[in-house]
Amino acid sequence: MKKRNFAILTSGGDCSSMNMVLSTFVKRCLQENIQPYFVYDGYKGLYDGDIKKATSKDVMHIWNLPGTKIKSARFPEFKEESIRKKAIQNLKKFDIDYLFVCGGNGSYIGAERLSKMGVKVIALPGTIDNDIASSDFTIGFDSALNSIKDDIYKIRTTMESHRFIAFVEIMGRNCLDLTLDAGLCTEADYIITNANILKKEEILKLIKNIRKTNKESIVILVSELLYGIDGNPTLNEISEFVNKNIKEKIRINVLGYTQRASIPTAFDLKLSSELTNYAIDLALKNVHGISVGNQGFKYKSTPIEKANKMVNKNKKNEVIAFNKKNKI
Ligand code: ADP
Repeated sequence: MKKRNFAILTSGGDCSSMNMVLSTFVKRCLQENIQPYFVYDGYKGLYDGDIKKATSKDVMHIWNLPGTKIKSARFPEFKEESIRKKAIQNLKKFDIDYLFVCGGNGSYIGAERLSKMGVKVIALPGTIDNDIASSDFTIGFDSALNSIKDDIYKIRTTMESHRFIAFVEIMGRNCLDLTLDAGLCTEADYIITNANILKKEEILKLIKNIRKTNKESIVILVSELLYGIDGNPTLNEISEFVNKNIKEKIRINVLGYTQRASIPTAFDLKLSSELTNYAIDLALKNVHGISVGNQGFKYKSTPIEKANKMVNKNKKNEVIAFNKKNKI
């Protein structure tokens, strides 16, 4: 029987535990007598033909390393059909019959388009943002959350020593899960998300109210991409406004890429190895055009087109409930 060839790529923003996906993929393919391939730099490498056979040596002891050994890239050109056609020619050139894509919701759209063009694709949810509605959790979310939790604790400690106020800006693009869950696990004083963008006057009032209690430090979590765009003031402008009114400065902490490069948590490692094995189980049954994910303790597959139409749960009420302890 002809040997089968499976390929994998990582796409979009990197996240912790992508390397566990790669390691599990290579080891399981070799066990099944399938030749594993790596596609480097996401969809860009698919287009450029940067595709190489993967060996067990390539994945030796990488499982606990953050980042992605086969790199990731943003490649907006992949939206063009002609570019995808060339990428598909490369898959044919290497005689690859299955493509596994680990990435976020942009990568999922790319995977859907490839599937519609006849490629056998399975998508794995890999992003810190937790914005793939077909899976309760995305690979990398828990690791990022743990890293954020540690950073908030450090920031709180210094704020407390100096009786300072902090803004902590958290990633997540348009999904508020990281900010909400970071608030829930750190006893932050307030969270501001796309479900409750506050005006600078409201932030001033909030700070005045919290100062009336016996709290010495104040930690406010803010989702990224809210301030400094759409006519909203920047965090610096808010800090200056507060300073002008009550002679207090808000210390701004943008956690940035520290959130993406944390050592993976056990939860993420288990999720990524099990989802990868589950994806290969399905490929061996000739299932494709799907996304894999978890629902509670179970793993499930969803047609990729359906997965891309699913919307994330609206968590506005959870945000309101969290902030109830501090009134504005
Ligand atoms: P993420 O996958 O983390 O959400 P992006 O949104 O940047 O990250 O998407 C990753 C890549 O997926 C893009 O650089 C592009 O190559 C591909 N992609 C995104 N949107 C589309 C689309 N509409 N059609 C085809 N490919 C897309």
